[in-house]
Amino acid sequence: MQTLYDVGGGELAARIEAWGEPAYRARQVREWAYRRFARSYDEMTNVPAGLQARLAEGLPFPRLTTLREVKSDDGLTRKRLFRLEDGQLVEAVLMLYDPRGDARGRATVCVSSQAGCAMGCVFCATGQAGFERNLSTGEIIAQVTAVARAQLDAGAQPLTNVVFMGMGEPLANLPAVWPAVQTLNAPDAVGMAARHITISTVGLIQGIRRLADEPLQVGLAVSLHAPDEALRERLIPTAHRYPLPAIIDACRDYVAKTGRRVTFEYCLMDGVNDGLQQARGLAALLEGMLCHVNLIPVNPTPDGRIGRPPRSRTLAFQRELAARRVACTVRVEKGVEISAACGQLRVEAAPRALLDAAPRDETATQPRVGDLPAMRPSPLIQP
Ligand code: SAH
Ligand code: SF4
Repeated sequence: MQTLYDVGGGELAARIEAWGEPAYRARQVREWAYRRFARSYDEMTNVPAGLQARLAEGLPFPRLTTLREVKSDDGLTRKRLFRLEDGQLVEAVLMLYDPRGDARGRATVCVSSQAGCAMGCVFCATGQAGFERNLSTGEIIAQVTAVARAQLDAGAQPLTNVVFMGMGEPLANLPAVWPAVQTLNAPDAVGMAARHITISTVGLIQGIRRLADEPLQVGLAVSLHAPDEALRERLIPTAHRYPLPAIIDACRDYVAKTGRRVTFEYCLMDGVNDGLQQARGLAALLEGMLCHVNLIPVNPTPDGRIGRPPRSRTLAFQRELAARRVACTVRVEKGVEISAACGQLRVEAAPRALLDAAPRDETATQPRVGDLPAMRPSPLIQP
């Protein structure tokens, strides 16, 4: 069923007018929903009770239940596990950057765009658990408003940024993701600047090209993880559909069209993709492009097959890139102890929480990922 968060301002006004109410009620409703993060129509005290009831029936709020919330030791990373109406579990992470402790830093919420993911990345808990379904626009926005409301109630830092780096591949669900971005950006809704919204993709070329043509210019992050096709396909089993040269071409066109730099994410995995030769390969691939590389020391997988490189190796990789004039930073590790990497909390919680989930639609046609490709064992952990 369509929810309030699934409709834009125009459609909401049209519905309200069709019920014989003035269109300005839509503005009031959106202000309550997206500025004060109301959880129900009852809270909208300047909206007549009759209209509240009609809205509650025709366009209810999405039902999203917080099952667990875990905080990192320093309190700056907070992860929530949500249960959707049909029992699916998704995660959102709030990351606070507040070095001065005066609550005037950045507050970034990282949201999920799908329940599960069909891409099958071998280092990613979400990828390993497989694909369940796309999230709706409403379910995406609801993650943001739930976190925003909690911040508001606590008198804490309001949200400043949204990143689509949670579970799922956002460019594989653009028909739901894009309207969510529009609501986050709309001045009569959340009103977040487009440059404060970032979409991260494993490299869906058509999607990257679409973003380049959009007047609303959100940030683009592309997960590379390897400088060559063969290694990339071992880490991302579905990567053959999006060959590396074509991804880089699309990114170069994106920069030319938008004048914006692209962020490349590169998860560093011990003995797998963290060699100096690979750093040189990466620098050659990106030569001359307006871009920034984000090096992410991997959160180890539970099976122990993929580990985090020693700090010295990470820094050597970074130096090699910097020497070739590739802008790069090592991502500050946030929330490792609370399983903050993509999908990890859901994996821990799944056995219990899935018990009361609705039966799965086995006819879903999204491709499922095959068996794990063989990984080269890390030379550093060999006997
Ligand atoms: N599907 C999109 C966006 C969601 S994943 C994408 O892949 O870009 C967001 C980020 O989480 C990606 O850069 C991914 O590489 C990273 N990630 C996944 N598993 C991880 C792990 N075990 N440790 C560190 N980062 C991880
Ligand atoms: Fe999907 Fe991104 Fe995880 Fe890969 S890293 S499986 S694309 S969510």
